[in-house]
Amino acid sequence: MNKAFLYKLLWQLMSKQSNLWVKVLAGKYKVSLRLLHSIESKESDSKLWKELCRLWLDFYNNIKWKIGNGSKIRMWKDNWVLENGSILQVEPGIAGNENINAFAKDFVNNQGDWDMSKINGLVSEDTSARIEKMVPPKAFLGPDQALWSPEKEGFFSVASAYKVVKKLEEPKENNHWSAIWSCKIQQRQRFLLWRLSHNRLPTRSRVASWSATSPLCSWCNNNRETNMHAIRDCPCVARVWKAFLNPKDRAWFFNLPTNEWIRWNLSRKKEFCNTPWPNLFAVACDSFWQWRNNKERDQALNVPSEGHRFILQVAKTNAQVFFSREPAISRQKAGNMVWTKPDGDWIKLNTDGVVCRVNGKAGCGGILRNSKGEWIQESDSKGALSQVSDSLQDDTNHNPILPNIKELLKRDWVVKVEFSPRLCNGCADMLAKSSLDFRNRLCILSSPPSSLVPLIGLDASRPGPFESGG
Ligand SMILES: [Zn+2]
Repeated sequence: MNKAFLYKLLWQLMSKQSNLWVKVLAGKYKVSLRLLHSIESKESDSKLWKELCRLWLDFYNNIKWKIGNGSKIRMWKDNWVLENGSILQVEPGIAGNENINAFAKDFVNNQGDWDMSKINGLVSEDTSARIEKMVPPKAFLGPDQALWSPEKEGFFSVASAYKVVKKLEEPKENNHWSAIWSCKIQQRQRFLLWRLSHNRLPTRSRVASWSATSPLCSWCNNNRETNMHAIRDCPCVARVWKAFLNPKDRAWFFNLPTNEWIRWNLSRKKEFCNTPWPNLFAVACDSFWQWRNNKERDQALNVPSEGHRFILQVAKTNAQVFFSREPAISRQKAGNMVWTKPDGDWIKLNTDGVVCRVNGKAGCGGILRNSKGEWIQESDSKGALSQVSDSLQDDTNHNPILPNIKELLKRDWVVKVEFSPRLCNGCADMLAKSSLDFRNRLCILSSPPSSLVPLIGLDASRPGPFESGG
């Protein structure tokens, strides 16, 4: 309880500056009340003051600023625009900026609007958009106001402070586990991250400590395969991570110690291609570990060259299950929305099309699979493929595609046409996206591209329509 009362004193220091007690304290310890972002103590200071200084940072993390004239709020270091925390916490790359201590008022132009030219480019589009939505600082709004963020209305109370203090005092271990636990990721991914955070993945370097095996990483053959090497630091794995990272975040990402790294990634508010970062992060860690285990069984394997596409595709599907934006699809239903194998002798063709928003280039992809979920090789389905490709090649220039489809359907075979939601159509979606890189008009692959193999495996591992789940 004691700490909650000390929080109350700190709150008074911040927001009740006409209070006599505050004035005395500020005079005695030379605190600038106008710009109060930190307090410091000397060895000779009173026990109370030293204790207040020690608690300051935890206390200040609960302060959210309301914009007034913008002369107190530090643009990057204070909590004022994001749900939680400062911009600097979400975008650590900004730390190198020369204006790291600038105030909100420094980002207003002569017309009294946000000067977005000073903001864009430094922060993500999401953060830019949030800033743009805020009323910019105005002189007539008076001083910026500190609010107590744990309470909706922003009013401080000792009871509320007590809850905050209690939470902070929970054992670290517990806190850490709850960060992994509370994130919307799959159970298997949670367990993997938990093992990683305790350095318990049976990597080569660990196994070598009790047996006579090589401790070297089998991807790069150059470094000891520690837990972090396997999941983050190996050059073969780092290459895939870099596809997802902004260059300015890389130094931070590759240097954080394990637990901070996990916590930072799981609490990151960023999205990559509309996929929440924590989902992408968890899927990536999980994939690296699976690929690594597959390589232990088959040394010929490599990190898939298009690994990032696979990771993004799986993360998208996972995230859609957790954050389905269409209310019509319940979580239960979305969880069941996966690709299913065709019955008996049927062959399933999944197709998908894409258009690149940047250059307007369009492409499509398709995949034929049998009732075991296996990729159908050219020889197995020569007839079908040649008929399809004949028809497509006839489609010169502006020939509309619809008559071709109708003609295809009329041929001597039994066809069922069904709509397949994107959630169930991951492989075709991925093929369609890679088709944008192809030069040829039509490309028939005799075997699946390596980046697609894991996804086909995932689809094939699911029970068919008449098999029971398990
Ligand atoms: Zn390595």
